[in-house]
Amino acid sequence: MHQVLNKNISPLKNFDIKKIREDFPILSRMVNGKPLVYLDNAATSQKPQVVIDVLQNYYQNENSNVHRGVHFLSDRATNLYEEAREKIQKFLNAKSTKEIIYVRGTTEGINLVANSFVKPRLNEGDNIIVSLMEHHANVVPWQLVCDEKKAKIKIIPINKKGELLVDSLHGLIDEKTKFISVVHISNSLGTINPINEAIEIAHKNNIPILIDGAQSVCHGSVDVQKLDCDFFVFSGHKICGPTGIGALYGKEKWLEEMPPYQGGGDMILQVTFEKTIYNDLPYKFEAGTPNISGAIGLGTALDYVQSIGYENLHTQENLLLKYATEKLSKIDKVQIIGTADNKASIVSFVMADIHAHDVGTILDQEGVAVRAGHHCTQPVMDYFGVPGTARASFSFYNTLEEVDILEDAVKKGIKIFLG
Ligand code: PMP
Repeated sequence: MHQVLNKNISPLKNFDIKKIREDFPILSRMVNGKPLVYLDNAATSQKPQVVIDVLQNYYQNENSNVHRGVHFLSDRATNLYEEAREKIQKFLNAKSTKEIIYVRGTTEGINLVANSFVKPRLNEGDNIIVSLMEHHANVVPWQLVCDEKKAKIKIIPINKKGELLVDSLHGLIDEKTKFISVVHISNSLGTINPINEAIEIAHKNNIPILIDGAQSVCHGSVDVQKLDCDFFVFSGHKICGPTGIGALYGKEKWLEEMPPYQGGGDMILQVTFEKTIYNDLPYKFEAGTPNISGAIGLGTALDYVQSIGYENLHTQENLLLKYATEKLSKIDKVQIIGTADNKASIVSFVMADIHAHDVGTILDQEGVAVRAGHHCTQPVMDYFGVPGTARASFSFYNTLEEVDILEDAVKKGIKIFLG
């Protein structure tokens, strides 16, 4: 253990953390007179210079609207935009680019599926199953369609370690179950869920399933064909890409059946006042001028993360998780919320009765950025009987030294509040 945690040892020979950090200009800035220690990666990741450059270059040299133009720049923008879609397709190992829909992010992707796929199939008395550890983005869209259709939501429970009791799906599913939607990695607990099992159970019962991958694509590779999920959604900003762009993967057979989510330009082949013919996939779901620069930036971000290598990323993040868990759990008055056996590099904790926002504020004074509150997972907070937690979430560009700074800041906070 000690050897692994020796800060002078780089986890892998070809992983130069110093060089990687230099790729992210924001990491060298000061906050409140202290070097920034950015541990809020589950909320959004920082952006490498290559992504910043590609955005600037797009607006400086290539800006134009896509699909509709015959001129040079429009053609160029369209090619870059569609190349990015191919990158996402390969990244998720989808069968075709027809299965990749650009969306604003995870939230929009789930709303699209709720409204276009599930709502038309839902009747009074039916049910949709989600887990107790869902982000509000994977709760509220289902509540909206269930309210409208007089259907119900059923909940997969969790245990005190924050692990999903996936077997309980067998008892929850009945002939009225129309859809299942489960988070891959919990943003507030860090739990990595057994989604393979959830997908298998869903399909044995002929129920389509969506996986919320908002927190998972940044921690490991995802293969939607191997998983065999019906839908998978993620946000670009959590994997080094820009905000306002993400992708929804859907099996082509489902997407073909689904009506458009929004109407407007680009999603049509022909419009008359009598009848409109919709465009082919994936454009049927992409009404209006899209986030062109965002898509191009996301493509570059995926290239960047893949160039780091998931093996390197895993090793570094697991090291940080282990080290932070060990350090924080040794501090009297600190309790870690979410102690699943299979966890990503997210550590949520409470400090005695100190309000999470006060913890966040104290840490901020030391330059340490953590998220404080319910993390848009209020049912999880209710389950653990806390109003909120402080959450340190680590990326591959974080260091063990930063964990030390977090530890010192936490200890300082305890002294200030508890004497
Ligand atoms: N699901 C999970 C698990 C998340 O962590 C988040 C973002 N915190 C979302 C959904 C929503 O993502 P976005 O706000 O990017 O749409």
